[in-house]
Amino acid sequence: MTCEIADKRLFLCDCSKSMRLDKEKLGKMLHATEDFNIYHQLCSKELGEFENGISGSDAIIACTQEESVFRSLAEDINSNSKFVHINIREHAAWGEQGENAGPKITALLEGAALEVALPDRVTMNSGGRTLVYGRGDVVLDAARQLANRLDVTLLIDQADNMFPPSAPNFKIFGGRIVESSGHLGDFHIGVQDLSAKDPSARSTISFGPSATELTNLQFDLILDLAGAPPLFEGDDRRDGYFRVEPGAPVKIQQALFELVDMVGTFDKPRYISQEQDLCVHGRNRQVGCTRCLDHCPTASIMPIDNVVSVNEYTCAGCGQCASVCPTGSLSYTVPFPSNQCDVFRSLLGKYYEAGGRDPILLLYDDNMAEELLAIGRFGRGFPSNVIPWDVGRITALGLDAILAAITYGSSKVVLATGQIKFEELHALRGHLEILEAINAGLQLEGEAVVFLEGRDPSQLEKKLYQLAESARNSEQKARDKGLRIGSKRDRIWLSFNHLTKIAEVPENPIPLPGGAPFGAVRLDESKCTLCLACVSVCPEGALLDNEHKPQVSFLEKACVQCGLCRVTCPESAISLEPQLDLRSAVQQPRVLAEEEPFDCVRCGKPFGVRSSVEKMVDKLREHSMFKGNPGAIDRIRMCEDCRVVDQFSEKQPFAVGSRPITRTSEDYNEDG
Ligand code: SF4
Ligand code: SF4
Repeated sequence: MTCEIADKRLFLCDCSKSMRLDKEKLGKMLHATEDFNIYHQLCSKELGEFENGISGSDAIIACTQEESVFRSLAEDINSNSKFVHINIREHAAWGEQGENAGPKITALLEGAALEVALPDRVTMNSGGRTLVYGRGDVVLDAARQLANRLDVTLLIDQADNMFPPSAPNFKIFGGRIVESSGHLGDFHIGVQDLSAKDPSARSTISFGPSATELTNLQFDLILDLAGAPPLFEGDDRRDGYFRVEPGAPVKIQQALFELVDMVGTFDKPRYISQEQDLCVHGRNRQVGCTRCLDHCPTASIMPIDNVVSVNEYTCAGCGQCASVCPTGSLSYTVPFPSNQCDVFRSLLGKYYEAGGRDPILLLYDDNMAEELLAIGRFGRGFPSNVIPWDVGRITALGLDAILAAITYGSSKVVLATGQIKFEELHALRGHLEILEAINAGLQLEGEAVVFLEGRDPSQLEKKLYQLAESARNSEQKARDKGLRIGSKRDRIWLSFNHLTKIAEVPENPIPLPGGAPFGAVRLDESKCTLCLACVSVCPEGALLDNEHKPQVSFLEKACVQCGLCRVTCPESAISLEPQLDLRSAVQQPRVLAEEEPFDCVRCGKPFGVRSSVEKMVDKLREHSMFKGNPGAIDRIRMCEDCRVVDQFSEKQPFAVGSRPITRTSEDYNEDG
């Protein structure tokens, strides 16, 4: 009666026979025993069987519609089983191609069965200290309503003609916010001209004398009705900060409704994990990579010395920083990127194994979940070769994950970006440009990655059917099956290596758009003095020296285009060139500049660069300290050790001669 995937008991239900599930075929695809069961009303009439079935085993429940029913039953019976729910109804079996959706259903169940690591949590405490900020009756009303449940302070930035409330149950001050920082439970506000309300004010609110200095105040929550620019970047993503236009009464009521419940302890995932050792932001006070700083919409990332630090409290979890981080110093945790690659491998591997062809991975998150459900409910349903998968946060997808999906055999990767703000697609658009350039460079047919834009389910459906059809008509490429292990860079190169097997590697590097994390370093040899400052600063070991001679060589595969070498080079001899060189030679260092060493004229030891020493000699020959002093000139041609020895062996013109022997009282006594 049972079927298990990865030691999890599978509960498959055809939702009152509304899905035409072919038990025999599905059983084979799932490697189930002959008597494996498909339920019809698992959430109601067959709930008893579910209750018996979960004892002592974790479960995959192929239903998202009645998730709460299964959860509350598990709570009622104190079950320790872990459940995962997966939608095979709207996403697969409902619709005109539902009967052919067996491989997709098998893939979805297999993908759901994979264990994913859970992130740590970040905790924030709110005691309900609330700041209401703005002017006019609207702030008085809001403060009055909130004060029944919260500890409210009203800060009025302009009190013109405001009627003083009688016996207010909240504090009233005048002043202007000029600084703001912090997060839910710990907002810090800098107020200019803070002044207390005059209790004797009669017909209009007035204030006492203003503070002469900036006053710092702390709150747990803020309701900003000032109608001015937001106090925080990414204001709509900062927990505990509510900014509403003062002329929007419905939205104000919604904010009040939410605010009164924001007392207590709140937590959220620690969305970003950080390995600071891998960060290539800076070295020696020079700034290199700033990709995460440039992409964070909530200004939650700060540079600290050579690395960056993510404020986990204000981080809203879009994951763009991790998506663009070239080294994997920042990783998204919901799920972790290596888990994401494993899931894609499992989904696509199982789909092919079950006999599916021309799959399209449709990656989405909460932003588009409802719109995609509507395709299954009201439209034609999904094409049978389109596999929808919730990736947690689509803006967090990195090149490693997208390339894994492509090389594991997704004919196209479709990113459902319909509702995401334009500025939050910056990272994904960058990846798309890079992938388009690579596709063109390898002369691969069609687009590998497509954005599914818009929100209208019928338009989305139309686009999906077009893509599904074009995938069916396109040439099937060999797919990779290997795990994506190692660092982010390793995972990416495993995919690149696969691409070199299915496409002809071009003779020249593929040019990539600016900012791409792959590329060459160009060195102007006429400027380079082989001082090796670039070698010592390169955090990735992409620039190398040679212990036997003055030489700089370059390992292109390791270069993340952080630019630290460029900004460090004292001769401005370095420039960067974003490109992808897939030839195997790129995996070996190549010499960028080299010279013969200069041999010390005293001991013969090689100690410097020939041209630099000779240039120095030429320059200093006419200098007053060296002119007519061949010994001093020769010293420039000596190694460090010989220079010191030589200096003290030569007769010095300013030497004071040998010092007289110190005479003691005994000497004087002897002299008589
Ligand atoms: S993107 Fe990565 S390597 Fe670059 S500064 Fe941010 S954490 Fe450091
Ligand atoms: S060689 Fe590449 S990785 Fe190394 S410092 Fe230069 S740009 Fe950065």
